[in-house]
Amino acid sequence: MNEVKKTQRTRVAPSPTGDPHVGTAYQALFDVAWVRQQGGQFVLRIEDTDQNRLVAGSEQQIYDSLRWLGLDPDESPEVGGAYGPYRQSERLDTYRPYVEQLLAAGHAYYCWCSAERLKELRAEQEAAKVSETGYDRLCYHLLLEHGADKVREVRSQLPGFSEMPVVRMLVPEDAPLSFTDLIRGSVNAPFPDDQVILKADGFPTYHLAVVVDDHLMGITTVVRGEEWISSTPKHLLLYRWLGWEPPAFAHMPLLRNTDHSKISKRKNPAARLLWFREQGYLPEALLNFLQLLGYPPVREDSEMATLSEFVAHFDWAKISTVGPVFDTGKLDWLNGAYIRALDDTELAHRIAIYEAERGRPLDEHTVAVLTAAVPIIKERITLLSDALPMIDYLLLPAAELVIADDARAALPENTAQIVSAAVAALETLTDWNPSAIQDALRSALVETLGLKPKVAFNPIRTAIAGRKVSPPLFESMAILGQPECQARLSRLI
Ligand code: GLU
Repeated sequence: MNEVKKTQRTRVAPSPTGDPHVGTAYQALFDVAWVRQQGGQFVLRIEDTDQNRLVAGSEQQIYDSLRWLGLDPDESPEVGGAYGPYRQSERLDTYRPYVEQLLAAGHAYYCWCSAERLKELRAEQEAAKVSETGYDRLCYHLLLEHGADKVREVRSQLPGFSEMPVVRMLVPEDAPLSFTDLIRGSVNAPFPDDQVILKADGFPTYHLAVVVDDHLMGITTVVRGEEWISSTPKHLLLYRWLGWEPPAFAHMPLLRNTDHSKISKRKNPAARLLWFREQGYLPEALLNFLQLLGYPPVREDSEMATLSEFVAHFDWAKISTVGPVFDTGKLDWLNGAYIRALDDTELAHRIAIYEAERGRPLDEHTVAVLTAAVPIIKERITLLSDALPMIDYLLLPAAELVIADDARAALPENTAQIVSAAVAALETLTDWNPSAIQDALRSALVETLGLKPKVAFNPIRTAIAGRKVSPPLFESMAILGQPECQARLSRLI
């Protein structure tokens, strides 16, 4: 009999504990690639069961960043959906019956051991270098000895007792330690500890909540970081005990710094997803960059590929398990390439939006100058944030232009003569465009005065741009207009 093909559903499940991590976008990209290819849904679930670590605003940043990247979830706390609520703190009633079920079946037990006792136990185990570490099952042994009715009382007489118990999994000898991973094939994981599934505050831990939610939300493929491989046996046990079919697993490689250490927000600003937007990267360039982390280029002739091309090409087996190095040099290159591929009007628009987002909305004059200057800066910028500083000299009135010290120091002795000749040559120019300006200056300075082009044009550039290096001079002069250029030249004299 033909098995009916299940609708593929993936999810990303970040915890709102701070600025979103770039790994969230990385996983979301692969989630999206799979469900778009297969025709399914991508879910965003907020895993906020660790109430002590919540950071206000973090959830909104997750929504905004995914939207910015075009990785909008089909279902989320924000947009809703048929499997909600999508925030774990709103699902507490959902988890409780499963805890009861596991307790009743003897797969789980109450534990009253205090945090201090567990800490001491760990210290003892470390000092004794024992091979079996983890919880020593004190409460479970008392349960066997005294029965469910007496265990609490007996335990309370012993040291290291805590009023509010947690619930732990009773991990059996035959716990499943190997599983098939879409990326890694057959994977072996270490034997798990008696994991806490319900905390003293009544909140489930990640391990219980993730299994219950992935099941109830119909998730068919769990895409997550490789740091969760060692937890997978616990999850498989919960699936077994609850009588549910486990999803497929795809454990993505950990992103690494150039020194191969694990990428972290403490060490690398690029671990913060918001950083890219703040710096002026284009979302399509970042998506393309993430696509190339641990995944071969879609096309043979280029590393650039759109999201739809990636979706069409996508195959789990092509993901490499070697932690890809997060090299922002590559991203800079891609960003420049994407910037150059934008049409001029669109690029000006993106720069204006970027500046407004950074709290610097552009006035009409700036927008007009920027739009005129895009063709001369397009080849020269890597980030959206490079644009305005590069054309600052086009935006100021002559009187406010500051001549940089190095440019001033490099002026030749006969600067006044050169610049005066330029003023005279430009005075009568009727056609104010780059080639007419160039011709007039060349004829007056190179041909008539007999100067080398470099000697002739450097003082002009200094007068116009206030610096030794700038975007093309004659185009800049055309944008500034005749009166403004004459004012700048005269000011230098
Ligand atoms: N809340 C977990 C995290 O932020 C999710 C892990 C998973 O995807 O299962 O890492």
